[in-house]
Amino acid sequence: MRVGLYPGTFDPITLGHTDIIRRACALVDRLVIGVAINTGKGPVFSLEERVAMVEAECAKLTAETGTEIIAHPFENLLIDCAHDVGAQIIIRGLRAVTDFEYEYQMVGMNRAMDASVETVFLMAEAKYQAIASKLVKEIAKLGGDVSKFVSPSVKDQLYLKIGRD
Ligand code: ADP
Repeated sequence: MRVGLYPGTFDPITLGHTDIIRRACALVDRLVIGVAINTGKGPVFSLEERVAMVEAECAKLTAETGTEIIAHPFENLLIDCAHDVGAQIIIRGLRAVTDFEYEYQMVGMNRAMDASVETVFLMAEAKYQAIASKLVKEIAKLGGDVSKFVSPSVKDQLYLKIGRD
C-alpha cells in the first residue's frame, strides 16, 4: 500500500492544490492531506473550516480518481506526521524558483531525520501554477473575482469570511 502525505496550510484550498492532489492520486493508493494546525501564517480560516473545505474538494477528487483521500490535521514535525499516517512519500507542489530554496532545505533536514521517506515534487498545469492562497485572499478582500483560482464553494466561503456578498 503506497501512502502519500501532502502537507500545507490550505487557507483556503485552491485549484492549484487540487491540481497537485489529482496528480498525486496517480502515484499513491492513499493520499493523506496534512492540514497544518499551528502555522506562523495566521490563517484566515479556522482549522475546522480548512479541513471541511479540503474534505469537500477531496470527495469530488476521490470520485474522479478512485484514490482514497483523507484530511489529517497535524501540528507535529512533518516527518513524524508521515510516520503517524504510514506515508512513505511526501508530496510537495513547486510553483517557481522562489519555492525551491525553502523546499531544498526541508528535504535535506527531513532526510537527515528519516532517509526512508522520499519527497516528490509536482508542478501544476500552467494555468494553475501562479495561484497562491495568500494572493487569492488579497484579491477577494480588494473586491476582485477569484473564480479562476478556487472552486465555487470555496469562493462563497471566502466571500462570507471577509464580509462580501
Ligand atoms: P505552505 O504553507 O506549506 O506553503 P500551502 O497551503 O501554501 O502550504 O501549500 C501546500 C503545498 O502546495 C506546498 O507544497 C505548495 O508549494 C503547494 N502549492 C500551493 N499552490 C500551488 C500551485 N498553484 N501550484 C503548485 N503547487 C502549489
